[in-house]
Amino acid sequence: MSKLYFIPGSQDLYGEECLKQVAADCKEMVDFLNTKVGDVVTIELLPTVETSDICVENMKKVVCDDECVGVITWMHTFSPAKMWIKGLQLLNKPLLHLHTQANEKLPYDEIDMDFMNLNQAAHGDREYGFIVAKLGIKHEVVAGYYKNDSVVAKIRRFAQVAKAIGYSKNIRLATFGNNMRDVAVTDGNRLECEIKYGWEVKYWGIGEIVKGAAEVTDAELAEKMNEYTSKYTMATDNVAAVEEQARYEVALEKFMAANGVNAFTDTFQDLNGMNQLPGIAAQNLMAKGIGFGPEGDYKISAFSAVLMKMAEGREGATGFIEDYTYDLTEGQELELASHMLEVPASFALNKPEIQVHPLGIGGKADPARLVFDGITGDGIQVTLIDLGDHFRIICADIELVKQPKPMPKLPVARIMYRHKPNFEIGTAAWCYAGGAHHSVVSTSLTRADIALFAKLTGTELIVIGDDTTEAELYRLSNR
Ligand code: MN
Repeated sequence: MSKLYFIPGSQDLYGEECLKQVAADCKEMVDFLNTKVGDVVTIELLPTVETSDICVENMKKVVCDDECVGVITWMHTFSPAKMWIKGLQLLNKPLLHLHTQANEKLPYDEIDMDFMNLNQAAHGDREYGFIVAKLGIKHEVVAGYYKNDSVVAKIRRFAQVAKAIGYSKNIRLATFGNNMRDVAVTDGNRLECEIKYGWEVKYWGIGEIVKGAAEVTDAELAEKMNEYTSKYTMATDNVAAVEEQARYEVALEKFMAANGVNAFTDTFQDLNGMNQLPGIAAQNLMAKGIGFGPEGDYKISAFSAVLMKMAEGREGATGFIEDYTYDLTEGQELELASHMLEVPASFALNKPEIQVHPLGIGGKADPARLVFDGITGDGIQVTLIDLGDHFRIICADIELVKQPKPMPKLPVARIMYRHKPNFEIGTAAWCYAGGAHHSVVSTSLTRADIALFAKLTGTELIVIGDDTTEAELYRLSNR
């Protein structure tokens, strides 16, 4: 279970009684928060910071504990912030500054100097806020009474995003082959990805999977085919083509387990020794939280894995999507994704069908794929691009919609969405921002989740939605 450490601040100026009360209040706060976010993380109380040494000891614990994904700090009393410098300099995990109080209301009839000395977050949290700003630490501030639903919701969001950032640092990605030749947006600086987000991007030849597929036993194949037929409807007579995909998936799973890999890419330009492009194999793995990027797109593969982790436990679906074609009927514009095979099965509205059809490009055998209509509802489309000197995240609000008419001749999974605030502004903004044609779509996550991830990782963020105006578009187009 992931955990957050809760570190309160005070000092020894106020006497033993005061410090006892601080510890007791913090315990009550932590107990309460655990009842509210305990399904996401466990919050554990550390000793109150009264000196620089205590702060350093606490932060050492934070840094060395593999289960710890972040820290919550709160200044119950005044905690002179020079005591926090050396500790905060050690911190390498997400930081939430909780700006709250043990008491909700002021006891107007009873309040005296002792009460003031004990409950002075307005005083202490500003001293602390100054030093965090001075040190330039990217962090989240949540302000309000800690029992308020809105405050709890923000702490929950922080916990989920912190977990995803922790997961990000443990992503090891296998690229089978390289990027698709000549495609620009899938390229970039792999080294910088590892430094900034922790993604180890490692190359292997697709021969690893070809070899693994050939070594799949009858029992392993039968088990994978059972998995497919229990989850999906077999709607093809070409069972051999489906078995081919099953072999790929078994081989991929074994390879990933053996090499500690949790995300991968392939490319249809390097399928040497393979008969098909991985279709179901990729779709089924994505539905299990495995990151995937086509055409060697390692950034979207890793990013999708991070966002799937962030969405864990929430309703809805999150996964890789590729932009393809539009219905440009004026005022009712829609987008259809995606022409290629790799739409995660988690987006299925109904039980997907396994079908086998030609792909049209790549020159390989007809690949088995899952065909389904996508779920509907409000969502986001988010991508991450590499601009050479920095990364940029672009997050657009969209509405996933039911396809207006059947598409009987299009045998792929179909996701359709409407752009916000409208087609003209929404898609133009995406283009101005340099948004890729590979992205992550989610009906589980919101702009606020992505904004927090961008803030905590120090990534530039451009958001597009109902609040994107024409004026904003001019600004964006003239950066
Ligand atoms: Mn593409």
